[in-house]
Amino acid sequence: MRMMLRRVAVVGAGAAGLCAARHVLSRPNSFAHPVVFELSDNIGGTWCYEECVGAHDNGRPVHSSMYRDLRTNLPKEVMMFPEFPFDPQLSSFLPHQEVQKYLERYCQSHNIRPHIRFNTVVDNVKPVVVTTEDGAEETTWEVTSSDASGRQQTATFDSVFVCSGHYSDPHIPKVPGIQNFKGKVLHSHSYRFAEMFSGQSVVVLGAKASGLDISIELAKAGAKVTLSHGRPQLTFPLPSEIRQSCPVAAIEDDGSIRFQDGSLGRADVLMFCTGYNFKYPFLDAEQVGLEIQHHMVSPLYRFLMPPAFPSLVFIGICKMICPFPNFDCQVQFALAVLDGSVTLPSRAEMEDEVRRELQEKVERGVEQRHLLVMDKDQWEYLRALAHTAGFPPLPPVVRDLYVEVWRQRQVHPENYRRLNYRLVSDTEWELIE
Ligand code: FAD
Repeated sequence: MRMMLRRVAVVGAGAAGLCAARHVLSRPNSFAHPVVFELSDNIGGTWCYEECVGAHDNGRPVHSSMYRDLRTNLPKEVMMFPEFPFDPQLSSFLPHQEVQKYLERYCQSHNIRPHIRFNTVVDNVKPVVVTTEDGAEETTWEVTSSDASGRQQTATFDSVFVCSGHYSDPHIPKVPGIQNFKGKVLHSHSYRFAEMFSGQSVVVLGAKASGLDISIELAKAGAKVTLSHGRPQLTFPLPSEIRQSCPVAAIEDDGSIRFQDGSLGRADVLMFCTGYNFKYPFLDAEQVGLEIQHHMVSPLYRFLMPPAFPSLVFIGICKMICPFPNFDCQVQFALAVLDGSVTLPSRAEMEDEVRRELQEKVERGVEQRHLLVMDKDQWEYLRALAHTAGFPPLPPVVRDLYVEVWRQRQVHPENYRRLNYRLVSDTEWELIE
């Protein structure tokens, strides 16, 4: 008897959604052609640069947080999907346009485009649990979407991959008295280029990847930057126009900024580089057994699937990861679960594992808001996914070069992108002139 092909819906045609579609398409004996829903008219998600900010003419919020002069913070040698290299002629750290081109090539060479429904937004994803004749429970998913004309449709799938991105809904922490600030307030989501801030004084809140990069761009464009953060004083060289300060405590009645050490300052601009919220407006979190907070989605078994509904798959929710290789391993693991080659533990066991892992992190002193930060743990995590699902693990050279680049970033945040690398083998990389 021929096995029924499983039907997969993918929400989003960014890097994660394309990766999900590519692997579904490569398993025609187990899966029907995927249906990829994409609310915009293009692939690429984050990498599809949009100069406008706020909302489009049709009222749709701008999705991408890309800024005009962004260059990748990972070299192409580790950023790539396994076995799909970037153009070898390019330098290691790429302008965002090159990543968009790469994703277009990926989409084309895996023939994904015919399976994408552009200008179609997923409004609702709902589980429908049915009891089969032999008493087992089976879940299908009703996916309701609207096309550009507003016409709604509902279709049924066996699994849904949530690939709607995690860098679109700005997280702005409460600053008491913010309404008193007389200048411009914006989030890095709406930052596009530095010239418009030239000659202005800007307080940048947050010194993670975007906060640092944007501060450096602003300083080079002639802005006076105060980089306000709660990390220990950064000791690496920063342009002299950047002054560091402790976090902002409040805005006074007269519009001046009070810092946590009691000092006062004034600024033309407050730029929040304070990260993004998890947001899935198409899901009823409670219905799928999840708690969704701005910094956390839980419980997710292997950071992928709610134990109550493991056919709902979240790709790429962890932070400080090597995104494309991470997506690739997560997708392959999830598909191995869905096609039955990997058997999951019971729901209770999965919930237990998630609880234990989070508890361990808390005991190690990890703050709640950092529970999804992977960093060094990502390699063992990816290795375990590959081992369980039986696909080739990432070559160790990816980890080694990633670690080296992180080291360089800590020491030379302004110019680590000048270096170029080459992979020599699965275990060796070299620096090239
Ligand atoms: P996205 O790229 O956000 O794609 C999500 C897609 O889903 C979008 O196309 C969106 O339109 C669609 N969508 C959302 N909701 C719906 C809905 N309801 N219905 C239908 N479609 C929907 N990573 C790196 O590897 N290297 C870097 O140098 C790097 N730099 C970065 C710089 C910035 C400023 C940012 C914000 C991120 C950076 N990243 C970098 C991380 C980057 O986000 C990931 O590499 C990756 O692009 C994320 O892909 P994604 O598919 O998860 O999400």
